Amino acid sequence: MNPDHPPWHADTRVLHDDAALADEASVVAPIHYSATFRARDAAEFADMANRARHPAFYTRYGNPLHERVAAILAGLEGTETALLTGSGMGAISTTVLALVSAGDHVVAQTRHYMSTAKLFDEVLPRFGASATLVEQSDVDAIRAAIRPNTRLIMLETPANPTLVLTDLAAVAALARERGITTVCDNTFASPLNQQPHALGVDVVVHSATKILGGHHDLTAGAICCSKELAEKIWRMHITLGSVLSPMDAWLLLRGLRTLAVRVERINANALALARWLETQPQVERVHYPGLESHPQHALAKRQMKGGGPVIAFAVKGGYEATSRFVAALELPTHAVSLGGVESLIVHTAAMWAGTMNEAQMKAAGIPPNFVRFSVGLEHPDDLKRDLANALAQTETAR
Ligand SMILES: *Cc1c(COP(=O)(O)O)cnc(C)c1O
Repeated sequence: MNPDHPPWHADTRVLHDDAALADEASVVAPIHYSATFRARDAAEFADMANRARHPAFYTRYGNPLHERVAAILAGLEGTETALLTGSGMGAISTTVLALVSAGDHVVAQTRHYMSTAKLFDEVLPRFGASATLVEQSDVDAIRAAIRPNTRLIMLETPANPTLVLTDLAAVAALARERGITTVCDNTFASPLNQQPHALGVDVVVHSATKILGGHHDLTAGAICCSKELAEKIWRMHITLGSVLSPMDAWLLLRGLRTLAVRVERINANALALARWLETQPQVERVHYPGLESHPQHALAKRQMKGGGPVIAFAVKGGYEATSRFVAALELPTHAVSLGGVESLIVHTAAMWAGTMNEAQMKAAGIPPNFVRFSVGLEHPDDLKRDLANALAQTETAR
């Protein structure tokens, strides 16, 4: 970027931040579909093999296309650099395992993405590290959970299932004072709605499978942080091997080109639908950070520019009525994941029925009539019409 003028807007940066890395005539980035890269002489080979994060030595270590995507993501998150992985869980587990050792302690949230929670519940204890899980909306509880051996605070906001928020600036400040590294999963917000690093968080991780990719086609992860931390995490990355395929990196780059317009429209659609759902007699409760009724709406306004794609709500009439509602929908696809071009919906209790009993679901805050709705780019009036029709069918059948 030219230092003489102010930074471009995000809308522009998703199109141009990787331009300096393009060394070919084609307007569109080529897919570097190569596992390994040629050295022209012994000196170049020595440099390729020994320089950390070389972008063209061996694809598990780096790839020219990864480097281009990373330049855009680091720009959006406002971090020095970014590292790409083969999935969001690849990003999260690599980061945590790079930063935590035996004897260390982690403070994490009671609500995390399921596999992230497993990392703290099941994986870390096997290697002699422990985690305390804290109600994320309570900064004092997070402070109280810190021990002398706490190395990392893991955050995720907004978080499933009720889109509860964590005060990023407050937690980052108390972690900084004590020299504790903070990591935030920014998947539900995207860097266009929330920039944890600008609020003091050290490492921002993403499931790029979701909003960043945006088309429900690829699986990818990202780790955005300082060069120093990235090098440390990269050393773990080449050992754990969560490699992003060059094809998926290319799809991610293509998805990122439209990120700003997609997020803007998805924010608007989701807020309009959340507001409308609140007025529907068959809907019990709507959870969305952009709604004035969200218990942390003031915090949402402070740290988020938009509410993101995910709305959670409860359908009156229990599990059966909710199943009928989901089945009656024509437009939202009944599928997991979020943040893509088409709307997706999940009956949360049905998803967890195999892994949790009713009491566990209750403890996790998942009532039987709960749905998670990822709003896409359909016209909001069409989505309303379809939702209204499906809600009406829950009533007639009761
Ligand atoms: C999907 C998701 C992940 C995991 O990402 P994958 O790309 O599926 O590995 C992690 N965190 C959040 C919040 C997610 O939604």
